[in-house]
Amino acid sequence: MALTQLSPTSPSAHEGILRRQSNRESAARTYARSLPIVPVRARGLTIEGADGRRYLDCLSGAGSLALGHNHPVVLEAIRSVLDSGAPLHVLDLATPVKDAFTSELFATLPGGLADSARVQFCGPAGTDAVEAALKLVRTATGRDGLLAFSGAYHGMTAGALDLSGGAPSVRVTRLPFPQDYRCPFGVGGEAGAALAARWTESLLDDPKSGVRHPAGMIVEPVQGEGGVLPAPDAWLRRMREITTARGIPLIADEVQTGVGRTGAFWAVEHSGTVPDVMVLSKAIGGSLPLAVVVYHEDLDVWQPGDHAGTFRGNQLAMAAGTATLRHVRENGLAERAGALGERMLERLRRLAAEHDCVGDVRGRGLMLGVEMVDPESPVAAGPAGDGPTDRRGPLTAGPELAAAVRQECLRRGLIVELGGRHSCVVRLLPPLTITDEQAEAVLDRLSDAIAAVSRAGHRIPTPRPPKEAGAASPARTP
Ligand code: PMP
Repeated sequence: MALTQLSPTSPSAHEGILRRQSNRESAARTYARSLPIVPVRARGLTIEGADGRRYLDCLSGAGSLALGHNHPVVLEAIRSVLDSGAPLHVLDLATPVKDAFTSELFATLPGGLADSARVQFCGPAGTDAVEAALKLVRTATGRDGLLAFSGAYHGMTAGALDLSGGAPSVRVTRLPFPQDYRCPFGVGGEAGAALAARWTESLLDDPKSGVRHPAGMIVEPVQGEGGVLPAPDAWLRRMREITTARGIPLIADEVQTGVGRTGAFWAVEHSGTVPDVMVLSKAIGGSLPLAVVVYHEDLDVWQPGDHAGTFRGNQLAMAAGTATLRHVRENGLAERAGALGERMLERLRRLAAEHDCVGDVRGRGLMLGVEMVDPESPVAAGPAGDGPTDRRGPLTAGPELAAAVRQECLRRGLIVELGGRHSCVVRLLPPLTITDEQAEAVLDRLSDAIAAVSRAGHRIPTPRPPKEAGAASPARTP
């Protein structure tokens, strides 16, 4: 292959690659549909396309790039494995590279789990770790049913899909996840979270609820694909109490929230909750595929080979992951994400006050969301909104407005993605290494994009059903 084909940087190369992709790749492709970019170079927050355009990347590999693209410590770690002559494929054998990764991982684990933890190296995707966790708790408890939350996203393999909000399942009982803006009980805040917890308890204790004693409960400390919904700390503690009291293993899915993203190294630490099982992927591989399940040793009842697979020893990913975990820990990047995220949220709140089409802004650390709504829709009835001028009630979701904001962002050189129940939440997942100036630049571009959509807003047609609204419904986007 000619060198120019490997590293093409011209508008025609860009067009050709995109055309061939759409002719040859599956209709299931997602990001590629809404982001017609052909990345050829990247560093930190910035991606350069084959057409020479540069973008600020606030998608960051769906939240995988804690240190941004091609961070020097990550590149160095990969190079040193390559130059050392170490084998790249070792199944699940012990190696110095894996030993270093496990030590670094255990050094970061929440107190209460670190001393009694076991780690299982499973297939390399988040969804593989979810499957492993489900199998683990089912094997350990001898029970079958699972508790999961509305709006959850846990992956695309069969078991993980069962748990996700978009897919009905007979083995999974769906519980309400607390949220303020679209509180299922119409009250939001502490009262809404308390009602959500009460509902969970009553289902578990009512012998006629139809819910049998489950094998586990799985929860995201911040629902990401579900629309950037941080679980209130008190509610998460309550879930811990409820599950402990009934002998139900609690599984924290930290695939997206882990490694400093939310302002703590692991998001469960905000509430002081110690889960029995943690599902980890994305950032732990330092941009390469890696997933693990970490769990309390009491659950380690597997027999040899009970959960095997060929690709469980990716040495490059472990080296990149060790470098990433260490860099985040040594440089206090979790704290930095918490402080910067708060400042960004402050500016987003001002933006919401300026534009009727922004229904809500929320987030934790550098996991931020802007919910777009149809400003002309009637305010929902109930305690939170009692009249057409009451801005507190939730307005109808605006997936088309959100898609338009994503498009306007792209025109301004900013990559964002959508999430949320109706694909109406514009999501920001910048790397934890983003500077203050870059954060301002991101927010300037986003503000401009929202202002442009807001000006055009009244000409935007009524939202289509979520299925047609783009590739980012929670059930379809990783
Ligand atoms: N769990 C959560 C919370 C996620 O956000 C994701 C991916 N977005 C997954 C699991 C699945 O990970 P993967 O796409 O690597 O299978």
